[in-house]
Amino acid sequence: MAREVENAVGEGDDRGCLANGDPHAVGIAPNSIDATNNTRCSAACAYYTPFANRPNLVVIINATVSHILWANSTGGAKLTARGSISFSKEVILSAGTIGSPKILELSGVGNSTILKAAGVTPVLSLPTVGENFADHVHSWANAFTNITLTKDALLLNPAFAAKQEALWFKNRTGLYSAVPRSLGIAAPSAVFTPSELNTRIAQAQANLTHFAEQFSNENPALAKGIAAQHKIAPTLYQKDKELPLEMNAEPRYSGPTSFSARPARNYTTINSVLYAPLSCGRTHILSSDPLVPPAVDPAYWAHPIDVAAQVGRIKLARRMLTAPPLDSICTGEFEPGADKDTDTKIEDWLRSVVASDNHEVGSLSTMPQSLGGVVDTSLKVYRTATVRVAVYMIGERAADIIRGGQA
Ligand SMILES: Cc1cc2nc3c(=O)[nH]c(=O)nc-3n(C[C@H](O)[C@H](O)[C@H](O)COP(=O)(O)OP(=O)(O)OC[C@H]3O[C@@H](n4cnc5c(N)ncnc54)[C@H](O)[C@@H]3O)c2cc1C
Repeated sequence: MAREVENAVGEGDDRGCLANGDPHAVGIAPNSIDATNNTRCSAACAYYTPFANRPNLVVIINATVSHILWANSTGGAKLTARGSISFSKEVILSAGTIGSPKILELSGVGNSTILKAAGVTPVLSLPTVGENFADHVHSWANAFTNITLTKDALLLNPAFAAKQEALWFKNRTGLYSAVPRSLGIAAPSAVFTPSELNTRIAQAQANLTHFAEQFSNENPALAKGIAAQHKIAPTLYQKDKELPLEMNAEPRYSGPTSFSARPARNYTTINSVLYAPLSCGRTHILSSDPLVPPAVDPAYWAHPIDVAAQVGRIKLARRMLTAPPLDSICTGEFEPGADKDTDTKIEDWLRSVVASDNHEVGSLSTMPQSLGGVVDTSLKVYRTATVRVAVYMIGERAADIIRGGQA
């Protein structure tokens, strides 16, 4: 497909190719694969295995961090962390969007009302810990296809699947080594008609304060932070610069119906992920017991523009499946199905089937404290001296910041 894109726009022309950084484009969705053995890399093989023998690196497995022990907690003074695993410089929390706020709350840092209700003694008031949580919602439109070999064969034909598995283990070839999908990112102008877009943007702007208050859990600073985010997003929608949806085409069934409940046929699917939700939820502990999972309310589709974008994307996927070149291989829609013929019916179907894309973010946000932030730009938790928060995606940047800070 990358070649087709290049042919369409001309060699050396950056337009139309995701790989060249143009988001209004399509491209192959590459996996991080080691070309010498066709194997996908991971955090373990990239960041642990090469350094496993270092004497100053200790990894403790099958252990749950319960909380941080604070060395002092007087008045408004900065706190210093002291672990039951001793450390000399600082604690870096990297337990994920749900795990990191949980550890902070179990350590007494957060909204004192929530902490007390869970049986935790408040140590430091940072009421937006666990707030500003957002996630990507995943949905699908799929069709039957006349293509004779799709990845459906791995489920439909056990003998074929066994052969492909043997090929993979023998020399890393076969269907299990195939690039799984192509990728496109849909701009608002592809998802909405101009008048619908204008109406949606006007509604979002008119209700800005309402939604900022609804999503901020009665926290005035965070309401300002959410309002600031919601102020920018519609402007970018208007300029076609906020790209709300990932659309990726996949040569197999992908959707909500189990293998045994769907027709045993070959499929083509267009997956969709809502990239830029305005809906905002939260995650908080329910108990002082570190083994009790926290509650998560992702507030999916709490903002009307998120719902409209997902409905619009089903209609866009339908247009793609019934227009050249996909119309030559698609032989009829399976899901959502021809009976979902109004926006309301599409929305009802989506509400009953959509899933998380496991891309949750934002629960310890890097924003000014006056806008409800929890972490500053050096990744330090506000009003603490020795606690930072990092995530995998910015791990190397975090290392630079920490080294720079200590130099
Ligand atoms: C199925 C799936 C597919 C995905 N596909 C993609 C993709 O294709 N592209 C992409 O960019 N992203 C993808 N993601 C999202 C991506 O994996 C996450 O955004 C990313 O891993 C988040 O990194 P993190 O450092 O915040 O936390 P995590 O990677 O979640 O790491 C947190 C770690 O902390 C550990 N932990 C939590 N609490 C404790 C505790 N109390 N004590 C000890 N350890 C604890 C957890 O076990 C975990 O190992 C996918 C996620 C899933 C689940």
